[in-house]
Amino acid sequence: MTKKFGIALVIIVLLLAIGVWQRHRILIPLATTGEQIMRSEQANLPADGKPFGEDSYFYIVQLDERTFAIAEPYAWPRNVNYLIAGTDRALLLDAGVGFYDIRPVVKQLTDLPVTFIPSHLHYDHTGQGDYERIALVDLPHLRERATGDAFTPNWGEHLGVAEGLEPATWNIDEWIKPGSEIELGERRLTLLFTPGHTDNSISLLDNANNIMFTGDYMSAGSISAYYPGASMGDYLQSARKILRASAGNPDIEFRGAHAGEDGQLPIKSREDFAVLRDQLIRIKDGELKSTGSYPRIYAIKEDVVMQAEPRWLQDWSPTYPDDED
Ligand SMILES: [Zn+2]
Repeated sequence: MTKKFGIALVIIVLLLAIGVWQRHRILIPLATTGEQIMRSEQANLPADGKPFGEDSYFYIVQLDERTFAIAEPYAWPRNVNYLIAGTDRALLLDAGVGFYDIRPVVKQLTDLPVTFIPSHLHYDHTGQGDYERIALVDLPHLRERATGDAFTPNWGEHLGVAEGLEPATWNIDEWIKPGSEIELGERRLTLLFTPGHTDNSISLLDNANNIMFTGDYMSAGSISAYYPGASMGDYLQSARKILRASAGNPDIEFRGAHAGEDGQLPIKSREDFAVLRDQLIRIKDGELKSTGSYPRIYAIKEDVVMQAEPRWLQDWSPTYPDDED
């Protein structure tokens, strides 16, 4: 009897351990239907936005002469993609969910050759189209999976399973090393590796124009740090990195990749990043308490919450511990 009970207990513990280990594989299909989430009928539209394309799905907001936000107010994640142009070439930072093709929008905005670069590999940023040119951050853990220059995001990097989407295989034209500069012609961006939300997240710093594009690191909605590849250690390391890189630009605008419920483009300040850094340290030290079941919710500021793993599953070791710039 005792022996049988012992064996049953071992099996239960094993199943629980597998459940925790495979929690994303179990929870993401459970929480989603695997079908396309239809566009919402009503949406709050960004100020000064001009509708474009089939069903007026995209809203273009011109930020300056050479920078455009391409918002998707009707999509549930309310993505904001950016077209960043110089005099010789342009970058398309993120391409939306892809049920609507962003390429005609981009074509209307610029005649320059355009390179697509994802802020990270989640399906709501990679679109589904082919791109003439593709750039990707050059990280050892991505590069080692490429066959020549062919690269396919994996299940957890892409998460398209939530809406029945398979990741495409891309031919990478440019592998861009963290910390290096991207020359667009009279405009230069610095690519920063800023993991935390995922282990492939980047930010683009336009020092001369006082703007940094930060992807999903921090947008208008909640900060998400519990998907596969997310890491609290990376979040903290990246907060420090972003604050260091922008130290000479006190009034810099941080532009994230999702609008809030009000539909307006997300803008954060250095103060927001400093608060996040300090709160992350408090979470690490066990001083800031969380609420809810899964994910756990941390109140970072009155208008910012972070969704994270429970404390015992939080990973505080950075992916690349020595990566300081
Ligand atoms: Zn994301």
